[in-house]
Amino acid sequence: MSRVALVTGGSRGIGRAVAELLATQGHRVAVNYTANEAAADAAVEAIAAAGGSAIAVQADVGDADSVTAMFAVVGERLGSVEILVNNAGITRDALVLRMGVEAWDEVIETNLRSVYLTSKAALRGMLRARWGRIVSISSVSGIAGNPGQANYAASKAGIIGFTKSVAGEVGSRGITVNAVAPGFIETDMTDALGDEITTAASERIALGRLGQPEEVAAAVGYLASDDASYVTGHTLVVDGGIAL
Ligand code: NDP
Repeated sequence: MSRVALVTGGSRGIGRAVAELLATQGHRVAVNYTANEAAADAAVEAIAAAGGSAIAVQADVGDADSVTAMFAVVGERLGSVEILVNNAGITRDALVLRMGVEAWDEVIETNLRSVYLTSKAALRGMLRARWGRIVSISSVSGIAGNPGQANYAASKAGIIGFTKSVAGEVGSRGITVNAVAPGFIETDMTDALGDEITTAASERIALGRLGQPEEVAAAVGYLASDDASYVTGHTLVVDGGIAL
């Protein structure tokens, strides 16, 4: 069945792989981005070239007005959002004593406040339809913690608490709310860490390598599908067997 899907941060990395997979499954996909229009256009073109249907939609997911405007555009062009993938995320790493309040606020707003804003906006239509899927990208940092990433880990742990709570609120209406917690995945985000850190990380991963965006997308695709109709409030770890 073709549904309307919105993937925040769908222009690059994990989000792009999710957008491409959902389009392959026949869904009409809104690819959200915030700054990099060229990357969003490239994602939309790749989906179209593969026979899928997608549009690009700009919004800062941490900003309430921007999220409202994004849902208006998606509603008008594709219809009510039935599958919401909360993927947009950033890092501003520092040890907590050196972490400025801006780095704290920016990460909490983009990674966590966003999930509240978009989920609330999507739930209105999902409740009416008595069907919906919300899948949010957390992180193993949100489960185990990660020194140097207190803001990021707090935002990702927050997603897990939000997911379990909202799953309990809307489960009786045919809506599932789940999270995926990736480990180290090869994207622009981890490229920025440099070879030394990623090589050291690979040594702590049972499968001996970083993951690919498509390997996370597969988990999201499952949770967004009818196959996962009895799975809710869950956080699916996709980390290659990492020992933190
Ligand atoms: P990338 O840095 O490769 O891509 C980030 C995406 O988010 C881009 O599409 C970017 O848009 C978008 N984005 C950033 N800020 C905003 C904003 N304020 N509003 C809307 N969109 C925004 O990230 P990854 O693919 O690596 O990560 C995706 C998600 O997975 C994140 O939530 C991340 O925390 C999580 N994750 C990643 C892991 C990894 O190892 N890579 C591990 C665990 C979790 P634009 O192109 O316009 O900048």
